[in-house]
Amino acid sequence: MRAGLQLQRCLNHAGREAIARCPSCGFYFCRECITEHDERILCAACLKKQTPQAERPRRNFAPLVRTTAALCGLLTAWFFFYIIGRVLLATPTQFHEAAVWKDKVKDEMQKDDVP
Ligand SMILES: [Zn+2]
Ligand SMILES: [Zn+2]
Repeated sequence: MRAGLQLQRCLNHAGREAIARCPSCGFYFCRECITEHDERILCAACLKKQTPQAERPRRNFAPLVRTTAALCGLLTAWFFFYIIGRVLLATPTQFHEAAVWKDKVKDEMQKDDVP
Protein backbone atom coordinates (compact mmCIF):
# COMPACT_ATOMS: atom_id res chain seq x y z
CA MET A 1 0.00 0.00 0.00
CA ARG A 2 2.76 2.45 0.99
CA ALA A 3 4.96 1.45 -1.91
CA GLY A 4 2.00 1.84 -4.24
CA LEU A 5 1.32 5.31 -2.92
CA GLN A 6 4.80 6.46 -3.89
CA LEU A 7 4.09 5.64 -7.51
CA GLN A 8 0.79 7.45 -7.49
CA ARG A 9 0.48 10.94 -8.91
CA CYS A 10 -1.86 13.70 -7.86
CA LEU A 11 -5.14 13.71 -9.75
CA ASN A 12 -4.84 17.46 -10.36
CA HIS A 13 -1.07 17.64 -10.77
CA ALA A 14 0.34 14.91 -12.97
CA GLY A 15 3.91 15.91 -12.15
CA ARG A 16 3.50 15.73 -8.39
CA GLU A 17 3.74 12.69 -6.17
CA ALA A 18 0.65 11.88 -4.21
CA ILE A 19 1.03 12.07 -0.44
CA ALA A 20 -2.41 10.85 0.49
CA ARG A 21 -5.47 9.09 -0.84
CA CYS A 22 -8.83 10.71 -0.40
CA PRO A 23 -11.00 8.25 1.56
CA SER A 24 -14.14 9.72 0.04
CA CYS A 25 -13.44 9.52 -3.70
CA GLY A 26 -10.46 7.15 -3.61
CA PHE A 27 -8.20 9.31 -5.78
CA TYR A 28 -4.63 10.23 -4.89
CA PHE A 29 -3.65 13.82 -4.21
CA CYS A 30 -0.57 15.90 -3.50
CA ARG A 31 0.06 17.99 -0.39
CA GLU A 32 -1.53 21.04 -2.01
CA CYS A 33 -4.72 19.32 -3.07
CA ILE A 34 -5.42 17.38 0.10
CA THR A 35 -6.86 19.08 3.18
CA GLU A 36 -7.64 18.10 6.71
CA HIS A 37 -11.23 18.62 7.71
CA ASP A 38 -12.63 17.55 11.09
CA GLU A 39 -9.53 15.36 11.61
CA ARG A 40 -10.26 13.67 8.32
CA ILE A 41 -8.18 13.88 5.19
CA LEU A 42 -10.16 14.97 2.17
CA CYS A 43 -9.39 16.28 -1.29
CA ALA A 44 -10.54 19.77 -2.26
CA ALA A 45 -13.42 18.46 -4.35
CA CYS A 46 -14.72 16.22 -1.55
CA LEU A 47 -14.27 18.99 1.02
CA LYS A 48 -16.62 21.14 -1.05
CA LYS A 49 -19.16 18.34 -1.08
CA GLN A 50 -18.75 17.88 2.68
CA THR A 51 -19.53 21.52 3.42
CA PRO A 52 -23.06 22.03 2.19
CA GLN A 53 -23.43 25.39 4.00
CA ALA A 54 -21.24 27.08 1.44
CA GLU A 55 -22.33 25.01 -1.52
CA ARG A 56 -26.09 24.78 -1.04
CA PRO A 57 -27.06 28.43 -1.53
CA ARG A 58 -24.84 28.65 -4.59
CA ARG A 59 -26.39 25.51 -6.04
CA ASN A 60 -29.93 26.74 -5.37
CA PHE A 61 -29.42 30.30 -6.49
CA ALA A 62 -27.33 29.63 -9.58
CA PRO A 63 -30.24 28.62 -11.84
CA LEU A 64 -32.40 31.41 -10.42
CA VAL A 65 -29.72 34.01 -11.06
CA ARG A 66 -29.13 32.58 -14.53
CA THR A 67 -32.86 32.67 -15.31
CA THR A 68 -33.18 36.21 -14.01
CA ALA A 69 -30.17 37.30 -16.05
CA ALA A 70 -31.60 35.61 -19.13
CA LEU A 71 -34.98 37.26 -18.56
CA CYS A 72 -33.34 40.66 -18.06
CA GLY A 73 -31.38 40.16 -21.26
CA LEU A 74 -34.53 39.12 -23.11
CA LEU A 75 -36.42 42.10 -21.74
CA THR A 76 -33.62 44.46 -22.72
CA ALA A 77 -33.47 42.91 -26.18
CA TRP A 78 -37.26 43.10 -26.52
CA PHE A 79 -37.28 46.75 -25.43
CA PHE A 80 -34.41 47.53 -27.80
CA PHE A 81 -36.17 45.95 -30.76
CA TYR A 82 -39.50 47.46 -29.72
CA ILE A 83 -37.97 50.94 -29.83
CA ILE A 84 -36.31 50.18 -33.18
CA GLY A 85 -39.63 48.85 -34.47
CA ARG A 86 -41.44 51.98 -33.33
CA VAL A 87 -38.85 54.21 -35.00
CA LEU A 88 -39.00 52.19 -38.21
CA LEU A 89 -42.81 52.26 -38.18
CA ALA A 90 -42.91 55.98 -37.45
CA THR A 91 -40.41 56.96 -40.12
CA PRO A 92 -42.48 56.24 -43.28
CA THR A 93 -45.56 57.85 -41.69
CA GLN A 94 -43.61 61.02 -41.08
CA PHE A 95 -42.47 60.97 -44.71
CA HIS A 96 -46.07 60.57 -45.89
CA GLU A 97 -47.34 63.25 -43.56
CA ALA A 98 -44.63 65.65 -44.62
CA ALA A 99 -45.54 64.89 -48.23
CA VAL A 100 -42.54 66.76 -49.52
CA TRP A 101 -42.13 64.25 -52.33
CA LYS A 102 -45.81 64.57 -53.27
CA ASP A 103 -45.41 68.25 -54.03
CA LYS A 104 -42.30 67.47 -56.01
CA VAL A 105 -44.14 64.85 -58.06
CA LYS A 106 -46.99 67.30 -58.60
CA ASP A 107 -44.56 69.89 -59.84
CA GLU A 108 -42.95 67.36 -62.18
CA MET A 109 -46.39 66.32 -63.52
CA GLN A 110 -47.43 69.91 -64.03
CA LYS A 111 -44.18 70.55 -65.92
CA ASP A 112 -45.03 67.62 -68.17
CA ASP A 113 -48.59 68.81 -68.71
CA VAL A 114 -47.61 72.35 -69.52
CA PRO A 115 -45.07 72.44 -72.29
ZN1 LIG B 1 -11.98 13.16 -2.67
ZN1 LIG C 1 -2.18 18.32 -6.53
